[in-house]
Amino acid sequence: MIAALPVHVTGTRDYSHAEAMAGGVELSEIDYHTMESRKVPGLFLCGEILDLDGRIGGFNFQWAWSSGYVAGRGAVESLSNAHTKVPHA
Ligand SMILES: Cc1cc2nc3c(=O)[nH]c(=O)nc-3n(C[C@H](O)[C@H](O)[C@H](O)COP(=O)(O)OP(=O)(O)OC[C@H]3O[C@@H](n4cnc5c(N)ncnc54)[C@H](O)[C@@H]3O)c2cc1C
Repeated sequence: MIAALPVHVTGTRDYSHAEAMAGGVELSEIDYHTMESRKVPGLFLCGEILDLDGRIGGFNFQWAWSSGYVAGRGAVESLSNAHTKVPHA
């Protein structure tokens, strides 16, 4: 039975063959509602620059697109709020 065949992993292919990255900015540093950095207000992050990775199969694409959507909306909202806070001369 093929399932009983032991297969030992002996290594990985190098960086040039990598398909998803782990590491990056810690998720605890991000406000999920807007994807704004808690450390650098006004900076919005999404996708692979954050410490989140999934199995190959669309999870990384989904994360990139979904977090990008939220970050984009967050950035626009932030700019709109900043604009309305400018005191009138
Ligand atoms: C060969 C391969 C196959 C993959 N297959 C799958 C899969 O089947 N399913 C899946 O879910 N995920 C897959 N992935 C992973 C997926 O593509 C990534 O997780 C996803 O694209 C990350 O999106 P991102 O927007 O965070 O980063 P990226 O897609 O890397 O986008 C970053 C962008 O920033 C630009 N950039 C970089 N530096 C600068 C700069 N200084 N100024 C301006 N622009 C800059 C880059 O040119 C790039 O366009 C695959 C990845 C690879 C490499």
